[in-house]
Amino acid sequence: MDRKFSVPEIPLLGPIRIAPNVHQVRALIARVTVLTARDGVVLIDAGSRGSLPAIKAGLSLLGVSLEQVRLIALTHSHPDHAGGLAELAEATPAQVAIHHTEADIVSGDKPAPSFLRRERLPQVPSAVSFINSPPVEVSHPLKDGDYLPEIDGVRAIHTPGHTPGSTCYYVESAKAIVVGDALQYRFRKLQQSSWFFTRDPEQARQSLAKLLDVDFTTICFSHFPPIKENGRELLAEFLQNWQT
Ligand SMILES: [Zn+2]
Repeated sequence: MDRKFSVPEIPLLGPIRIAPNVHQVRALIARVTVLTARDGVVLIDAGSRGSLPAIKAGLSLLGVSLEQVRLIALTHSHPDHAGGLAELAEATPAQVAIHHTEADIVSGDKPAPSFLRRERLPQVPSAVSFINSPPVEVSHPLKDGDYLPEIDGVRAIHTPGHTPGSTCYYVESAKAIVVGDALQYRFRKLQQSSWFFTRDPEQARQSLAKLLDVDFTTICFSHFPPIKENGRELLAEFLQNWQT
């Protein structure tokens, strides 16, 4: 892609520069990560319903049009990450990827479960149906270790627990992982995914150890500013403190 990504850092509204080929733009509630691909861009997550204007504006600041979006890869099917999928897929020529265990939720073949912990908290079906995306075909059901199509060197790491199909994406060239809701970064401290919204907190915690198998320095979150240095060391320290 013959396009320069020399974007000024605009602290509150503009895209966040992670690396020359990795940025984050602001959608409603959650951020969307923009990866420079061979012939366009790949987006990780789609934000909440109604996010399309914000995503379009963010891409525009990066010099990218919606027509250049080749793939939307979801970290999981929660409505703040996937609720805006249908409107984004409609506005772009992009294909859609998500871990295979949540593909039938996105495609509408299975009803979306509550995003709250089912066993402890009440279901909110009417709210869920309102904020979830209309069905979208999943062209790339992923499994652990798969490389994304349409871009070189971006690998899916299945980290179940927050949801059964929660997936982090490792961007090899930038030594960055995009973690979705697998981790939080509150008060400048790494934390496990939110107990309130996590289906299986113990499994989610155990999944985090898998991330130490890859060589990363940067962690990109969905709801928090990125960690740009020593990310792997901070995660290792976090997991070690947890176990002791
Ligand atoms: Zn979530």
